[in-house]
Amino acid sequence: MNVWRRLSGQRRALALAGAGALVAGGLVTLPVTVAHAATQCDVSYTTSDWPGGFTATVNIKNVGDALNGWTLGFTFPDGSQRVQQGWSARWAQSGQNVTAQNESWNASLASGATTSIGFNGAWSGSNPKPTSFTLNGVTCNGGTTPTTPPPTTPPPTTPPPTTPPPVGSKVDNPYAGVKGYVNPEWKAKADAEPGGSRVSNNPTAVWLDRIAAINGTPDSSSNGAFGVRNHLDEALKQGAGYIQFVIYNLPGRDCAALASNGELGPDELPRYKAQYIDPIAAIQADPKYASLRIINIIEIDSLPNLVTNTSGQPGGTAMCDTVKANGAYVNGVGYALAKLGAIGNVYNYIDAAHHGWIGWDSNFGPTADMLKSAAVASGSTVRNVHGFIVNTANYSALREPHIKITDTVNSQTVRQSKWIDWNQYVDELSFAQAFRDKLVSVGFESNIGMLIDTSRNGWGGTARPTGPGASTSVDTYVNGGRIDRRLHAGNWCNQAGAGLGERPKAAPEPGIDAYVWVKPPGESDGSSTLIPNNEGKGFDRMCDPTYTGNARNGNSMSGALPNAPISGAWFSAQFQELMRNAYPAL
Ligand code: BGC
Repeated sequence: MNVWRRLSGQRRALALAGAGALVAGGLVTLPVTVAHAATQCDVSYTTSDWPGGFTATVNIKNVGDALNGWTLGFTFPDGSQRVQQGWSARWAQSGQNVTAQNESWNASLASGATTSIGFNGAWSGSNPKPTSFTLNGVTCNGGTTPTTPPPTTPPPTTPPPTTPPPVGSKVDNPYAGVKGYVNPEWKAKADAEPGGSRVSNNPTAVWLDRIAAINGTPDSSSNGAFGVRNHLDEALKQGAGYIQFVIYNLPGRDCAALASNGELGPDELPRYKAQYIDPIAAIQADPKYASLRIINIIEIDSLPNLVTNTSGQPGGTAMCDTVKANGAYVNGVGYALAKLGAIGNVYNYIDAAHHGWIGWDSNFGPTADMLKSAAVASGSTVRNVHGFIVNTANYSALREPHIKITDTVNSQTVRQSKWIDWNQYVDELSFAQAFRDKLVSVGFESNIGMLIDTSRNGWGGTARPTGPGASTSVDTYVNGGRIDRRLHAGNWCNQAGAGLGERPKAAPEPGIDAYVWVKPPGESDGSSTLIPNNEGKGFDRMCDPTYTGNARNGNSMSGALPNAPISGAWFSAQFQELMRNAYPAL
C-alpha cells in the first residue's frame, strides 16, 4: 500500500401465489393482475475444487421476459455434496435439492441480464456438477417455455425472527463506550516478541487482503488461519463492542506502487463483487453478529490514486489510468459501500490518504469530489458512508507541537520550507478536521466522523525534538522542530526511526471518531528486495534502503529499514523499533 503527494429502493419481491386479492391493512382489497410471462434461462455452473471442498459460481442469464423475484433450483448428483455458505442469494438445501432465492437487491433481472451467485460447498467421494437447473420452476434449456406466474413461496407472514438492526439505527460513533476486538493472531505475534505484551492487548484491524482471507488462509505468510466468521465469533467471545476489517482487494489494486499489488487484474470487477464483497456482506449480515458494531475500512489509497497518480502527473502510472478509465475503483468502492452499508450494524469508513498526499489545494478539493463520486456509484448513496480514515499504514505525525502552518521565520512562511513545500497542513489532526469539513461541503452527511491511524506515527525516542528549530531560516526552523523524522514526507515504506503512536481511543478530538491501529504494528509495508510470492505482491524500490528516490519523494533516500519481508508479513526488527520509539512511551 501507500503513496505520496503529487508534486506541485430496494423492493422486496414477493412471489405471488396466483392472481387473487391482497388485503392491505384489513381495509382495502386490491385485485392483482398477473402477467403471463415467458421464463427462459441459461445457467453456467463452474467450480474450483479441493479435497473435501469447493467454491461454485453460478451465473444465471435471463433470456426470457424481465423477472422481479426468482428462485433457482438444482439437484446435486452426489449425496455427499452440501452447500455450506452462499452469497448473493438465500440458499437452502433439502436432501440433494438446492434452491437459491434472490436477495432484495438482485430480485429484478432484466431481459438479457445475468446475475452471478455462488457458494462454498463440501463433498466427499466425488463432486459432479448438476446437470439441470430451473428458474421459478421452469427448466433452463435456452428454449421458450411459456409459464403461468411463478409458483411457490408464499410471502412470509411474520418477519424473520432475528434480523440485524435496521439501517438508521446506527450509532453516531461506533467506537464510543465499547471495547474493541483484539485480533488473537496479531496478539500472538506481538506476544512472541520480548516486551510485546505491553501492547498486544490493543485492537488492530483484520485485513481482508484477498478472497482466500474470507475463509482464512492457513498457509499464507501474512494472513492467519482465521476467516471472517472466526474473527466475528471470537469477537463475541471477547465481549467486544466493535471489530474492524479492512476491505482491500480492488481490481488492479495499489495502482501507483508495487508492494501491495493484489490478486485481481484491472478488469476483474465482476469477480470483486461476486467473490469478494458479496461473501463478506453475507457473513457480516448474519443476525448472530447483530450485537457487534462491524467497522469496514474501505480500500486504502485507491480513490486518491485516481486523483494524483494518473499519467501526465509526476510518477503517474498506466495502471492508474486503466482503473480510472474502466471505473473499477469508483464502481468497486460504490458497490462495497452499498452492499455493506445496507447492513444495520455495519459502519463504512473510506480511506482518504493523508496530509502529505492531498494536503495541497490542487489535490484537496478534487479528492473530496472523487470520494463523493464513488459514494454514489453502483447504487450507493452518501448514507452508506459513516466517515473517513486518514494516515492508514502511514507515518505522518498526529501533531507537530513545535510548528504551526501559520508560523513565519524572517518574515517567510514555513510553507516555503523544503519539508512543507507549500502544503496547507503540517500534521494529520489539523488535516483530518479540515478535510472533514470539506467532505461535508461536497455532500457527505454532517455527522460523519474521521479516524486517524496512529499505529506507527509516534516518533518518540531520543531523536524527538523538544522545541522549535533555530530561527536561521524556514528550513532550520522546520527541520529542527519537526517530530516526523522522515527524510521526506513522501516516504512510506518501513520507515526507520518511527514509533508506535497514540493507543486506540474513542472520540479523542472534535470531529474525530477514534485513533485506531489499522496497520497492525510489526507487519511489513513491503520487501526490501524482490521476494517471489503467490500473493501478487511486487517489489517497490521505496522499500529498498539503498534507493535514492524519484520525483515523488523529492529524490530522497527511501528511509526504509533493511531486510524487510513482503507486505503484511511479520517484521520483528520493525516491531522492536516501534516499541522503542513509542510516543506516548510504553
Ligand atoms: C498488505 C496486506 C496486509 C496489510 C496489513 C498491506 O500493506 O498488502 O497484505 O494484510 O498491509 O499488514
